[in-house]
Amino acid sequence: MKLYNSLTRTKDEFETHEPGKVKMYTCGPTVYHFAHIGNLRSYIMEDVLEKFLRYDGYEVKRVMNITDVGHLSSDGDTGEDKMLKGAKREQKTVMQIAEFYTNAFFDDCKKLNIKRPDVVEPATNCIPEFIELVSKLLDTGYAYEAGGNIYFDTSKLQQYYVFHNFDEEDLAVGVREGVEADDNKRNKTDFVLWFTKSKFDDQELKWESPWGIGYPGWHIECSGISIKHLGDTLDLHCGGIDNAFPHHTNEIAQSEAYLGHPWCKHWFHVLHLNTSSGKMSKSKGEFLTVSLLEEKGYDPLSYRLFCLQSHYRKSLVFSFENLDNAQQTYNKLIARVAALSEEGTVDEAAFAELKAKFKEALDNDLNTSLAITALYDVLKADTNDATKRALIGSFDEVLGLSLLEKAAALNAQQDVPVEGAEEIEAMIAARTEAKKAKNWAEADRIRDELKAMGIILEDTPQGVKWKKA
Ligand code: AMP
Ligand code: ZN
Repeated sequence: MKLYNSLTRTKDEFETHEPGKVKMYTCGPTVYHFAHIGNLRSYIMEDVLEKFLRYDGYEVKRVMNITDVGHLSSDGDTGEDKMLKGAKREQKTVMQIAEFYTNAFFDDCKKLNIKRPDVVEPATNCIPEFIELVSKLLDTGYAYEAGGNIYFDTSKLQQYYVFHNFDEEDLAVGVREGVEADDNKRNKTDFVLWFTKSKFDDQELKWESPWGIGYPGWHIECSGISIKHLGDTLDLHCGGIDNAFPHHTNEIAQSEAYLGHPWCKHWFHVLHLNTSSGKMSKSKGEFLTVSLLEEKGYDPLSYRLFCLQSHYRKSLVFSFENLDNAQQTYNKLIARVAALSEEGTVDEAAFAELKAKFKEALDNDLNTSLAITALYDVLKADTNDATKRALIGSFDEVLGLSLLEKAAALNAQQDVPVEGAEEIEAMIAARTEAKKAKNWAEADRIRDELKAMGIILEDTPQGVKWKKA
């Protein structure tokens, strides 16, 4: 598989330390609020990547952290802890907030068919591991104490900016949101490993450490959790593009300084979901959640399809009009799958040929939109329905659109005797006649009448199907 690597800035052949095995790490959510659908775009695309690697025969071990302490309002170690902010907002404790939003996150993931990682580890579970890491960094001179906090000394590295050359403006990330810069830092790019004396709001959760009572910085959490569960090397590390700097850059700095050798081979970054007014983000106040989409009548999986229709390395603009289109496409897709019969036996040659096209699309830097095209090619293919159904089931192991299940549900719905079914069928037949006679006004009138009765019509290649709204 060729996969773009942010570290080399090229599409590399995906290679792992141990043949056939992938050690995969994903930056998990900061659980101070609901995930917005932008966050979930990243998790959907990472889920497709994980599922495709498994589909390709790899054994994958995937680890995700839950950030429940230490992620300050600015990624550059300034501002209030996001968790504390959430707790104040809802007048609850930090742990109550963490539990509530961790569950909400996995509920959303379930609705979007995002598989739960093999290991999910809250940062607050790993304080001894973080202390161990920081202690060694101090012993080896990569870290220093100043003003009560422990900082990583970026000047000790040959190369700090590993992803690309950032300029001064990018560094402003450390001092944005009107928060004063941290004078304890020897270098502008240094970052906090352990806080004991944050100048900012007091922390609810604190632990004993050799440097006084305090709490870990956000970046050290991902290095610590990854090393705890996946060992000294990683094959694949994922996150949204905003994580590349400073978060992932700092993870690499401290992990490699600690380990004394290169750490992760491959860095996978998903570009942002934007609205017409820019990046979707929680700090802006208003953001869209899966529950909100559901309240508006959308199937969460139509949002998944919307994400799959574009490449993960392009930013994606969200609008309800775009989502309407995805929902329509999704419904039509389900109707087409539902119309396939279950008879016949799988034609192995046709199966292999069509599957090869699907794999080819994803082998080329996870081109999900071409993979969707390969799915349509199956529906159009000159082969029997049994082969088509088998291929759709196979592709859906990666796409995660529940196509066969939804199609079965649609068919079951139509098989249930509905009161007045005969009358409905007669009206549909009359509408078909009206359409044949090009009497569009009459056809529309009948559709509207049926709609008023709570019956929804769907034009499928096999004729008109109907369901109760
Ligand atoms: P957070 O919960 O803020 O730590 O973010 C969780 C994940 O969502 C991280 O991988 C972020 O990089 C990613 N992310 C944040 N905003 C967006 C966005 N608008 N579109 C896509 N991914 C995002
Ligand atoms: Zn992380």
